[in-house]
Amino acid sequence: MKSLWDDNEAKQYEGDLGLRVYTSRLLGRDTSLVLHGGGNTSVKVTEKNIVGEEQRLLCVKGSGWDLETIDTPGFPAVELSHLIKLAELETLSDPQMVNELRTHMTNASAPTPSVEAILHATLPYKFVDHTHADAVVTITNTPGGLEKIKQIYGDKVVYIPYIMPGFDLARLCAIEFEKQRNDNTIGMVLMNHGIFSFADDAKQSYERMITLVGMAEDYIQSQSAWELNYDISAKDDCDAIALADLRLNVSRAGGFPVILRSQRDNKAMSFCNRSDVAKISQQGPATPDHVIRTKRLPLIGRDVDAYVNAYKAYFETNSANARETKTMLDTAPRVILDKELGMITAGKSTKEANIIADIYDHTMDIIARAELMGGWHALSAQDIFDMEYWDLEQAKLRKGGKPAAFQGEIALITGAASGIGKACVESMLARGAAVVALDINPAVETLFNRADVLGISCDVADDGQLTNAIKQGAAHFGGIDMLVLNAGIFPGGCKISELSSEEWRKVMNINLDANLVLLREVYPFLKLAPNGGRVVAMGSKNFLAPGPGAIAYSASKAALTQMTRVAALEWGGENIRINTLHPDCVFDTSIWTDEVLAARAKHYGLSVDEYKRKNILKTEVTSHDVAELTAELCGPLFAKTTAAQLPIDGGNERVI
Ligand SMILES: [Zn+2]
Repeated sequence: MKSLWDDNEAKQYEGDLGLRVYTSRLLGRDTSLVLHGGGNTSVKVTEKNIVGEEQRLLCVKGSGWDLETIDTPGFPAVELSHLIKLAELETLSDPQMVNELRTHMTNASAPTPSVEAILHATLPYKFVDHTHADAVVTITNTPGGLEKIKQIYGDKVVYIPYIMPGFDLARLCAIEFEKQRNDNTIGMVLMNHGIFSFADDAKQSYERMITLVGMAEDYIQSQSAWELNYDISAKDDCDAIALADLRLNVSRAGGFPVILRSQRDNKAMSFCNRSDVAKISQQGPATPDHVIRTKRLPLIGRDVDAYVNAYKAYFETNSANARETKTMLDTAPRVILDKELGMITAGKSTKEANIIADIYDHTMDIIARAELMGGWHALSAQDIFDMEYWDLEQAKLRKGGKPAAFQGEIALITGAASGIGKACVESMLARGAAVVALDINPAVETLFNRADVLGISCDVADDGQLTNAIKQGAAHFGGIDMLVLNAGIFPGGCKISELSSEEWRKVMNINLDANLVLLREVYPFLKLAPNGGRVVAMGSKNFLAPGPGAIAYSASKAALTQMTRVAALEWGGENIRINTLHPDCVFDTSIWTDEVLAARAKHYGLSVDEYKRKNILKTEVTSHDVAELTAELCGPLFAKTTAAQLPIDGGNERVI
């Protein structure tokens, strides 16, 4: 393990708090030290308060901050002397502790200090660093872990047996530190949990962490347990329907739709296919706070009902020993290990599914290495339960706000790189959905640049490309709940007498035939949508009020409208709703260049602005307006509407 300290980089950070930010970020950069909000750091400073008195303060990581991206506002300052006095109390409940932390901060609007704040306060060093380093939890979760740790560190660290984070841990650490400290002490190992390092200098404290964790890694190397053989090769494709079926069952168990991410690299495939997977994966997480993300155990295979029953039994057994009444969390698994589908994670959002995947990716290595050092032995179910059902975590649950309308759902949108399609992507994202964005323009692949959008370049007129894109999209997020049939072309005016068969077929192919393939191929996924499948098709005013000179376009939109009405009849029994929008006067799309607009306005003897508002309401209809209605049609407001046709055109005399 190498120090990432760089003198030039360090110069950009000012003062003790600045260096605290810098070295915290250095820790956060290494995922084998901390992952997604794990670990915490602090610095002790002296500052003058508003009446000119000098105050000793502990600036400690606040909740909701990640070490990798933390900044000065992420370190709430708390009165140090008060924290030290608290550590001398016999008992302090968690809600009391949070109250004391919050009422002794210097900035009322700062985030709540870490629950390990009192522990940081008691250590008599300016800088304190804490991580859940993979190498340390690997060793401490094996038989004889304490002896191994003592052999590695000798008198360099203070040893703390496992005890739940919070006040009791802080108190125990304060006592043990005084008992065990000596001139060589540079850190503290918390069995089955993690490691601390400390010093009066930012660089030294950070580098002591690197040294200590490096020693643990060297030990694992010396036991020939570092290099891991992943003997099963990665799997490129997966059975998307099987994944969507699993997603439906997981969503039912949770009571909310989930995004599933399937990892099928050679590590995941090898782990899922180990003959001892049922033994090694069914013990517990690498460090207790992972339980909040991963739950205690993964599901092996696809029997979600069995998982739910086992989870209920775990809750009943362990909640019986709790001091207060506990409220059972949802029973859905978060990690699933399947021989075919790989290592799958379930989250309420793509972000959450990805975080869980990162954690379990590390967990697989940790378990595999521990197995090479005498066996993986995680904490007891009761210890993990106490963490999972910790007062403070339960309080967070009770607070939890209203989820976004399409949280955990997936929308597939065609023609998504521009105009109405792009606006639909934005409206779906704004409601919490993940999006599979299809477009013939390859720019779609990088246009959105975020984890909850998968952009696939695809010619919808090519059945093979389209079918593959649908499967790829469904496999990426675990299914498809909503389909927006948007891609289409408007080749411009051409009278029947002059229309070539070739031109006719081209328009029909893109505006109509492609939508048949989309409906047919997405249907199996819509059937498995936890909240029911929904389809919105972009029709056109031209269907309701055709004009001369666009027969191919008008006929294609009329046929598409009829197609959606028939689909509504065929699929209504399976809780799939299909509605059609008839937009008009949408001028902020690529078809309407400034020149075309100017020409059309001139044709009618109007200004461009008058031309854009040539409807009954004298209003401009934007792509965003159409996209918002598209999204709403998929939402609860229209839960009882199918086969409807809605104009969105500012009012058109001929339509009315
Ligand atoms: Zn910790």
